[in-house]
Amino acid sequence: MQLSTNFWQTKSLTEMNETEWEALCDGCGKCCYRKFIEGRGKKQRLYFTRIACNLLDLETGKCRNYSQRFKLESDCTKLTIRNLADFKWLPKTCAYRLLYENKPLFDWHPLISGNFNSVKQAGILIDNGIHEDDVIDWFDFIIE
Ligand code: SF4
Repeated sequence: MQLSTNFWQTKSLTEMNETEWEALCDGCGKCCYRKFIEGRGKKQRLYFTRIACNLLDLETGKCRNYSQRFKLESDCTKLTIRNLADFKWLPKTCAYRLLYENKPLFDWHPLISGNFNSVKQAGILIDNGIHEDDVIDWFDFIIE
């Protein structure tokens, strides 16, 4: 399947083909860092951490076994147009969230910059990540 010219501006998320949907991911890897929720109702708080899924390459932000990820990590979830509304915790820079909220992509997005390194150069990757297997107390690694 092909990428239509500027498809992220001309097509809605439901109109995109699979190749275009996959190309929206900027590869930041932020969705592969653990979050946890504390409390209930109005007191509920979402915490972001720098604790990564064990499959994540901490340097590149890429999954080290993308094709087998659902088998190897039971809580890895495929992001689709049908479940996108449930992913309110996606980072504010995430292309799926931006388009779902009718916002434009950032200039550093590879679809616009034409360069995958622009994500790293723009400081979007999480620094000092650590794998889940190496963590004892999650509270030591909260970043937000
Ligand atoms: S947060 Fe969004 S853009 Fe970043 S890796 Fe995850 S799906 Fe891709």
